[in-house]
Amino acid sequence: MSISADLSGRNALITGASSGLGMRFGRILAASGANVALGARRKDRLEALASEIGDTATPITMDVAREADIVAGFDAAEAAFGTVDTVIANAGIDGQGMATEQAEDEIERTLSINLKGAILTAREGAKRMIDAGVPNGRIVMIASITAFEPSPGLVAYSASKAGVVQAARSMAKEWARTGICVNTVSPGYIRTDINNDWFETDAGKRQVKRFPKQRLMGEEGLDPVILMLCSDAAQFITGADFVLDDGQAL
Ligand code: NAP
Repeated sequence: MSISADLSGRNALITGASSGLGMRFGRILAASGANVALGARRKDRLEALASEIGDTATPITMDVAREADIVAGFDAAEAAFGTVDTVIANAGIDGQGMATEQAEDEIERTLSINLKGAILTAREGAKRMIDAGVPNGRIVMIASITAFEPSPGLVAYSASKAGVVQAARSMAKEWARTGICVNTVSPGYIRTDINNDWFETDAGKRQVKRFPKQRLMGEEGLDPVILMLCSDAAQFITGADFVLDDGQAL
């Protein structure tokens, strides 16, 4: 079943669009009528997706751990389509490692991309929406069920995602009178490049067996909420988190 939303006239910037969930968000927003700026570091993959989508997509090479890249990315999106009024801060890395073993720079890298990068992306979008007087800005930040579930081996990652949820709530309140709605989506486990190797292991397979439905989610499980949160229908929804996990955390 496909879900539809009318996003025509919207200009979206999606980070982490070279793979997995971000790639899907690019496709579904474009299919719903939005112009899409596709951000990530791997240029070739972004170009391939942009050419698949067509004229309403533009590839933007950016590293969300660097503010200058984020500013340049929004400049490029604006030059292509006009002011960005819809942001999906999705870029992320897994940052796996037991707490006692994880190197300091890996902890730093995880927080820098997943948390700092998401905040910088959201605030750059908001600054520009506020300056341009956009009446109905939408910011969606991708967190994770690990924001709420104790997750051995994912200490830095889960902390970064809990940070995303609370940062979004605070930003939602800061910008409440601007018309910008800021929400988070906290997905359960969906097989993508971020976890593909893990779910090939015996431990990964056992984890799936412990889920109530004994399965991983499909990427399409996020579509209805993502589209709704990017649309005008979300005008009364801000500072909310949507756990979409196929019941994995029950
Ligand atoms: P993925 O396939 O590995 O995609 C991650 C994306 O983030 C890639 O496009 C990657 O592109 C981009 N990225 C990583 N570091 C970046 C950086 N410094 N600057 C810009 N882009 C960067 O994984 P995914 O599953 O789609 O993950 C997307 C988001 O969903 C992540 O935030 C992840 O934590 C979250 N999430 C995933 C799951 C799941 O089970 N899959 C569950 C909960 C939450 P480049 O390498 O080209 O830069």
